[in-house]
Amino acid sequence: MSVLVYTENTNGSFKKSVYEVVSYAKAIADSLNTSLTAISIGDVEQSALTALGNYGASRVLNVSSDQLKQFVNQAYASVIAAAADQIGADLIVLSNSFSGKGLAPRVAAKVEAGLADGAVELPDVSSDNITVKKAAFSGKAFAITELTSAKKVIALNPNSFELRETGGNTTVETFQPDIPGNDLAAIIQDIVRTTDKVTLPDAEIVVSAGRGLKGPENWGMIEELADVLGAATACSKPVSDAGWRPHSEHVGQTGIAVSPNLYIAIGISGAIQHLAGVSASKTIVVINKDPEAPFFKVADYGIVGDAFDVVPRLTAAIKAY
Ligand code: FAD
Repeated sequence: MSVLVYTENTNGSFKKSVYEVVSYAKAIADSLNTSLTAISIGDVEQSALTALGNYGASRVLNVSSDQLKQFVNQAYASVIAAAADQIGADLIVLSNSFSGKGLAPRVAAKVEAGLADGAVELPDVSSDNITVKKAAFSGKAFAITELTSAKKVIALNPNSFELRETGGNTTVETFQPDIPGNDLAAIIQDIVRTTDKVTLPDAEIVVSAGRGLKGPENWGMIEELADVLGAATACSKPVSDAGWRPHSEHVGQTGIAVSPNLYIAIGISGAIQHLAGVSASKTIVVINKDPEAPFFKVADYGIVGDAFDVVPRLTAAIKAY
């Protein structure tokens, strides 16, 4: 069995989640005593492709095509399936990122594989059936899934596996499969907002605020705390529904699911729908003036106090540190 990992690029470069999924696929390939091949689709610089060797990919299939400049689920899935066929891969690993969520089931259908999406740790590969621990019910529970099919697809939840640099080398090869015409029938246009801030899905630290902040005019202190920590900002659903913050910052069951190393929740009650998207965070700090706020039940550290008093003092203390 050889292993294929899909390395998604964002505007031609790889984000941390790519090195994470390559490290994860490499660890599985090592357990299976086999090699790891990566597939990259789109215009990515040669140096970035070569750098995949440092995380364990011994070979990179590089697909560069004008037809594939835009991400199109069906076409990308066909290309990944063709690559798996070409190298005889029985296991395909992807990131369970926003686009990975659409891609993974399509790839699995094309190669007739069982799918475990939302994997949170290394699978058990000690038998032909691979057993995967995965997040279920919007992160409220874990499920143990056994993949019994000959071919298998695993999609790893972002921020679930550490980066592992192996110091290895890779060879980059051009790969040009035929793309079925139907796959390109619908073209999706990406509208990418550029920002110099840390983006939410990739953030190691997230500073998040809720209705306790009273109004959009009070987000200056949230942004200042995020700036001193190098963090991304997030918010609860009612905050984005009210237009206080953009929808791209809404975390939870119906928003983005995050699992940073540190999640700071300020003036957020901790409703179950909010927790569904943040409870996988490694450390949770809650600042709330109500000692009975449900969020404290899942907090690693809690501060009972008024956000308008606590947050500026916290920011000043971190600046002084
Ligand atoms: P509130 O519940 O109003 O809580 C505000 C908190 O701020 C309180 O705990 C209060 O004690 C505290 N506070 C007030 N003033 C201060 C102060 N000065 N200093 C410190 N603390 C203060 N919500 C999400 O967030 N994400 C989702 O994805 C999501 N999906 C949903 C899906 C469905 C189907 C439904 C029904 C609901 C969903 N919700 C979601 C909404 C969710 O149920 C809650 O209503 C919401 O999370 C509450 O937001 P909040 O904590 O900001 O506001």
